[in-house]
Amino acid sequence: MFDSLSDRLSGILDGLTGRGALSEQDVQAALREVRRALIEADVALPVVRSFTESVREKAVGVSTLKAIKPGQQVVKIVHDELVEMLGSDAEPIDLNAAAPVVIMMVGLQGSGKTTTTGKIGLRLQKRQNQKVLMASLDTRRPAAQEQLRQIGEQVDVATLPVIAGQTPVQIAERAVQAGRLGGYDVVILDTAGRTSIDAELMAEAADIKRSANPHEVLLVADSLTGQDAVTLAENFEETVGVTGIVLTRMDGDGRGGAALSMRSVTGKPVKLIGTGEKMDALEDFHPSRIADRILG
Ligand code: GDP
Repeated sequence: MFDSLSDRLSGILDGLTGRGALSEQDVQAALREVRRALIEADVALPVVRSFTESVREKAVGVSTLKAIKPGQQVVKIVHDELVEMLGSDAEPIDLNAAAPVVIMMVGLQGSGKTTTTGKIGLRLQKRQNQKVLMASLDTRRPAAQEQLRQIGEQVDVATLPVIAGQTPVQIAERAVQAGRLGGYDVVILDTAGRTSIDAELMAEAADIKRSANPHEVLLVADSLTGQDAVTLAENFEETVGVTGIVLTRMDGDGRGGAALSMRSVTGKPVKLIGTGEKMDALEDFHPSRIADRILG
């Protein structure tokens, strides 16, 4: 069993109690542990670098004469820095727009996009009393449209009836119109995924965005894919533009480093996390919980 980062930092620094202030040299070994923990948590290297640099700036000069041990003080510095980088407060889905508010879901195939669409539909309808319509824009895999229909039935959220032969943009337009005519508060568009990032996927997502004018564009990414999730987020942010991120499979073994990297690289908030296969396994993103998970 490995010691947690908190324990390792205390182990390195607490022996310096009473010496005066932490020097550059004193914090070096501690920073090595911080770096190691972040890399173990799958945080992208440039993010690891800038993170340890800001911790270094704050840790050098920390008084070792206080009642609180130096290790504890540095643990707090690391924790606060993580929370700040992760975005301090939970950011909910923004529904502050004229009805129907359009939410567009993007991401790779297998990331959990369709499941998350159902989870969000259920949450908005059940907890926030919104009338929700979901539509699958995945015309390449007929099974995808059927999958969303089944999920809709399961969570008792309406889905747009499928009309064969329509393009994703046509379906999006029909969904928004059905949302308007049917008195829906929210329309969720589940776009097609791919097995990897490609230009066609990005172009299609950009077309849909232009015509459906979504208020939220949520990128669904698998937290266990680490570095790939970061590249994906960069790509989507540059070519389509996203308003938030949903990290799935946070119930897995990952330590949540992807959250830190994605937030830091795109500047966009992680809004929700998926914590299981069940339809109610969706939670608000709490930065301090992820910070605790990384600190161990
Ligand atoms: P899509 O291709 O992106 O639409 O992916 P799906 O929604 O079909 O999900 C792929 C698989 O991941 C399904 O078996 C889901 O049940 C599962 N899944 C989705 N989100 C989560 C999650 O947060 N945790 C876990 N453990 N499984 C998830």
